[in-house]
Amino acid sequence: MSDQVWKERFDELCHVLKQTIPGFEIRYKADSFPWKDLPDKIARIDLFWDEDAATTVGSTIWFPRREYVEKSPRAAFYTLAHEAVHAFDFAKAKVGFGIGYLSPQVFALVFIVAAIIVGACGSLFWILPAVLALVAVAPLPSPWRADAEARAYAMGFAIDHWTGREEEDRRGYVIGAMTSFLYWKMVWGRHRAARRIDRYVSRIAGDRILSVSPAYRLVKEIVTTE
Ligand SMILES: [Zn+2]
Repeated sequence: MSDQVWKERFDELCHVLKQTIPGFEIRYKADSFPWKDLPDKIARIDLFWDEDAATTVGSTIWFPRREYVEKSPRAAFYTLAHEAVHAFDFAKAKVGFGIGYLSPQVFALVFIVAAIIVGACGSLFWILPAVLALVAVAPLPSPWRADAEARAYAMGFAIDHWTGREEEDRRGYVIGAMTSFLYWKMVWGRHRAARRIDRYVSRIAGDRILSVSPAYRLVKEIVTTE
């Protein structure tokens, strides 16, 4: 399959996502606030700038650079299809999805506010919420984030299946990512990550995956239409 075909598929998926998700847009971190203005130490970490590490916030999918899409349209299509699952999740559950995705670490904010309020009242008990805040930011397992990513990572396997190609060790890559600091160790143990991803991958044959997210039906239509 030529780069040109993948480029057309990328454009078509953008087009249908725009029609389906209110406010949907693709933006590029290299050109945009706040990414390009982040302090170097944060801005340069791979988490944000890996070629294929796009980030979805609400109905916006942020790719690192425009050139990536031009140079590697197939990889960019896979990335867009993965992020489309997140964008549909966001559209459906809005703030709830964001809180779930960032849990339990996001609760540190609540504990910090509590510590400030208790401290301002002159009580020494501010230490208690402060300790809880520290516990919350630790790389604790996040079943919500893990499930969201397993649902999205299954997309890569689905595209492989529908287009008759097979990525060498996609499963190993996904399990590695799910258990790494890339996702703040959201899953502890490779066997747990394998169970999570296999739960969705096993739905691909027979098309039971189509009910997991509207993104699957849109992507299937695009990659199976000549
Ligand atoms: Zn993801």
